Order: sequence, then C-alpha cells, then structure tokens
Amino acid sequence: MLHAITAKQSQSASWGALTKWATHLATGMAIGAVISRLADSSWPELVCIGAVAGLLPDSDVFLMPLSRNAHRSVWTHSLSGSALLSLAWLLILVVALRGAYLPFSDSSAATTSVAVVFIASFAHAGEDALTFQGCRLLHPITGRRFSGPFRYNDIMANAIISLVSLGVMLACLGAFA
Ligand SMILES: [Zn+2]
Repeated sequence: MLHAITAKQSQSASWGALTKWATHLATGMAIGAVISRLADSSWPELVCIGAVAGLLPDSDVFLMPLSRNAHRSVWTHSLSGSALLSLAWLLILVVALRGAYLPFSDSSAATTSVAVVFIASFAHAGEDALTFQGCRLLHPITGRRFSGPFRYNDIMANAIISLVSLGVMLACLGAFA
C-alpha cells in the first residue's frame, strides 16, 4: 500500500514537473508573440526565441552537482540573471552578424529578440516567485526572496497560466481575427 502511494505521488510529481515546463514554454512563446506584434517584427523567430528563453533559467539544474544552491540562484532567476542572459544573447547576435549570418527574416526582429530574451526569462523568474520556494526576483535592487502560495507542480495553477498564455499568443498571431 505504502509502495502504491509513493509510486502514485511520484507519478503526480512528474506530471506536475511537466506542467511547470509547459507553463514556462507557453509564457515565453506568448511574450515572443506579444513583442513581435508590438514591434511589428517577424513572429516565428521571436516565438521560438521566447520559448527557449522561457525555459533557459532552469538550465541551472545542471549545475546542481557542483553546488546545491545553483538552482534558482540570482544568476538565473532574477533581474540580474535576465540581464546576463539577454547580454549573452546580444553578444551571440553581434558575433553572428560579424560573420554575416543573420538568423532572422528581418533585422528588426534581431534587435527585438534581445528584449524577448530579457522579458521571457524574467517572466520565468516571476512565475517561480509564485511558488513556496520563491526566488530573489529583484536582485540586485533588493535581496528579498519573493514567494507565493503555490507548489511548483500545482497542475491547476500551471494549466491556467499555460492556457492564458496560449490564448494571448494566438490572439497576437491573429488566430481569432
Ligand atoms: Zn525556474
């Protein structure tokens, strides 16, 4: 019986973790779509970059074998972290442009993509700040840890945010026009 309960809880946690990733993915895509609409830039690249930037902060889990506190540190889950990620993306773009390789259908999308990386990665931190564990969202302005009432694997909360994000994205792409 105990084994069955543990297995069920484990399965539920896995589903919860999946919905968490889906939430960050959907929010990042929505931000790419909103910014492409506002900036009148080409949307496919910005939606894809938003998707990656929405997930990127959690790549810090791969550093956990080196440091137990690597996940949700200020280097990935805060204003500082998002500034670093967008700066890194800007440097990649500059190098790509110097090499005459432009992975965008228009140059305004390349410039706009830096804002997408910043906002999508910061939105990820903002969503994590809704959980019990929270994160130091506004570092370096303040070291306060912001946290909320949800578990990271709260399926209902993740589903609502994901569905709203998908609706916003589709609206921006003219799906309801
Ligand atoms: Zn995270």
